[in-house]
Amino acid sequence: MSKKAFLVYHCAYQSDLSVLGTRVAFAQDRGAKVLKKLREEFAGTIDEVLVKPRPATFKQLELAHSQAHLEGLKEPESWRKIFGTDKPLERNKENLNTLRKLFREYRLKTGGTITAARLALKHGLAANLGAGYHHAYRDRGDGFCIINDIATTVKVLQSEGRVKTVLIIDLDFHQGNGTSNIFAGDKSVFTLDVHSKEGWPFHKEKSSLDVPVKKDITPQAYLDALKQALTKALAKFKPDLVLFVQGADAYEYGQLNKGEGFSLPLSTMRERDELVIDTFVELNIPLALIFAGGYGDRAWEAHHQGVRHLLSRTGILSDSSNAG
Ligand SMILES: [Zn+2]
Repeated sequence: MSKKAFLVYHCAYQSDLSVLGTRVAFAQDRGAKVLKKLREEFAGTIDEVLVKPRPATFKQLELAHSQAHLEGLKEPESWRKIFGTDKPLERNKENLNTLRKLFREYRLKTGGTITAARLALKHGLAANLGAGYHHAYRDRGDGFCIINDIATTVKVLQSEGRVKTVLIIDLDFHQGNGTSNIFAGDKSVFTLDVHSKEGWPFHKEKSSLDVPVKKDITPQAYLDALKQALTKALAKFKPDLVLFVQGADAYEYGQLNKGEGFSLPLSTMRERDELVIDTFVELNIPLALIFAGGYGDRAWEAHHQGVRHLLSRTGILSDSSNAG
């Protein structure tokens, strides 16, 4: 496969969540920040590989979610529970309109994951500069995730006959409980999940391969654990496609709560992402990278270097910045 890499992004990814009254420092502008930096590094070539997504349709969402859950998202109370806010969210016209707009933005980001996966299948590599809503279950949202773009993408591609087997590599600090639950017992999907042993969610689901990691793990031990897990997964499973859930909250400056762990430095985050990307480039297996957890002003730094590496692995772009 001759490799090209595409980036999927839309300015509406920067959702305004203020209606929910949450105090969480969501890095809603991280896709924009990553793009800005890449434009500086790769100049005009970035716009040649930039693709705008379309919102996932309800028909697509229904492949991964119950109708009752999707219907329930019309109600402010469902959103309040998923975002864990104490502030009551009044059921008035203004709020209902705002939530409808927000829901469309989440569908757009989900469409972005579907688009990135399609592009990866065709060209080898792609990244969606947003989404990664791995906590959403089939019939409920959880942990700031209202719908699961990763599960929806797998179901859409399988229903179209584009792929049979998908490997999901989830390296977010928090276990991708929703994704693992949705694919429990499904032999066509392998969920490899490296996550915090002590951290939320406190009730863990069973993934195909769970690697629970203690929060004070050293960077080298973290990388070794990931390397072993990749080898183990590939010995058992042959994927047509890899979805790499590139959580940036394992980064010391991307944590939801400072001091929560793992506190990995940027250099380890880079080694981590390069290990995943290079493994599948060398095996000639298509890979789509999806953002995921990452909070505060600096989470974008970890996302950026993974995406930059992905671009640098293709023939059409050379990493002129060679930031080492
Ligand atoms: Zn997370």
